[in-house]
Amino acid sequence: MRHDRRVSAPTATACPGCGAVLAPVADAGRAHPGASSSCTQLFEVTLGGIREEAAADPAAAAAVQLADAAYDAQHPDPDDPVRLAAAVAHLAERFGGPVPSVQPARRPAAWRMTVTDVAADLDVVDLPALVETWARAVSDDWH
Ligand SMILES: [Zn+2]
Repeated sequence: MRHDRRVSAPTATACPGCGAVLAPVADAGRAHPGASSSCTQLFEVTLGGIREEAAADPAAAAAVQLADAAYDAQHPDPDDPVRLAAAVAHLAERFGGPVPSVQPARRPAAWRMTVTDVAADLDVVDLPALVETWARAVSDDWH
């Protein structure tokens, strides 16, 4: 591998799962399998508040469950096809329609909506409504 001596600013990279182009984060924690660490962090931050409410609020818990399924479905882990299948099955169950047969290697070429869209609209739209729209789009993209 060629060694690059240039000192350059960190450049934005595309998430291997959803394709979201995000600036790298300095103190990135553990990345979700199949996702970049900046995408994982954006997801965690976006869902942070509602995740805290989930213990006491069944509606928040359902939204968190749906968001986790959408995120798993959009970030397939080649080493964990069962997780992907479970996520896509959860979405199909939620929105109706047949459960598609899915493989991490044969994921949709493009996504209509990602967690960046959820984060961007958070000021104007209620998070559970955004999660619903996002999860439905992910489910449709798999069909
Ligand atoms: Zn991503």
